This record gives sequence, C-alpha cells and structure tokens, in this order.
Amino acid sequence: MITRIDHLGIAVRSLDETVAYYENALGLHCEHREEVPSQKVRTAFFSAGETHIELLEPTSPESPIAKFLEKNGEGIHHVAFATDDIAAQLKGAANAGVKLIHEVPFEGAAGKLVAFLHPKSTHGVLTEFCMPKAD
Ligand code: ZN
Repeated sequence: MITRIDHLGIAVRSLDETVAYYENALGLHCEHREEVPSQKVRTAFFSAGETHIELLEPTSPESPIAKFLEKNGEGIHHVAFATDDIAAQLKGAANAGVKLIHEVPFEGAAGKLVAFLHPKSTHGVLTEFCMPKAD
C-alpha cells in the first residue's frame, strides 16, 4: 500500500548552489548528503513536513541524471511514493500493465529499497517506489 509521497527528486547541475537556494530562499535545512555510486549521483535531502526533497547532481556524464539535464534542464525528475511492501507494489503495477525499470528493488539513498516504473507507461512521470529496509 502507498502511504504518502516520500519525496520529489529534483535534477540539478550544482548541489552546492541548489542547497544554498533551498536554505536561504525557502528556509529549509539540508539534513543529509550522500553519494549513491550505483546511480552516479550526489544527493542532498530536505524535509518539508512528511515529504522530502531529494536534490540529485550527476557525478559522471554516464549518470541518468546527466542525461536528464541534457535533455530537459534542471527540474523535477521523479516522484517517489512510500510503500509498506515494495515487492507487492511492483507486482501490482506490473499486473496493471506498467513497464518496470527495475523488477527487483535495489538500495538507494538512506538505505531504502527503491525501484522505478518506466515513464512511458506512467503518463510522463518517472515514478519511484521506496521502502525503508526491514532490518
Ligand atoms: Zn528518489
């Protein structure tokens, strides 16, 4: 079951410049920074109530975020829904005819299990499911 929007992923060219914007202009506090080698990104997290903002800066031209920036410029990259059962959520989406990018969840930022649905079958929104690790 989806329990809430966990975070919005936002693609940026410079993590430092964008962190400064969220801190100075919006008054949010950067809570956590982390590099995620599997996705070739550096991330920074903010809380806005129960929902988080995940800034994503590519660490390599091969990063999916680098490709996104090239094509679209900076902006919202994905919407992440928190779920209490990521395997069931993926199965439900697949059964509904959605194309999955990841059939098996992998470890994303902050040790959460994550998996993405293909934007071609989600009406244009790259959709992530995420779930805190059980142990
Ligand atoms: Zn995300």
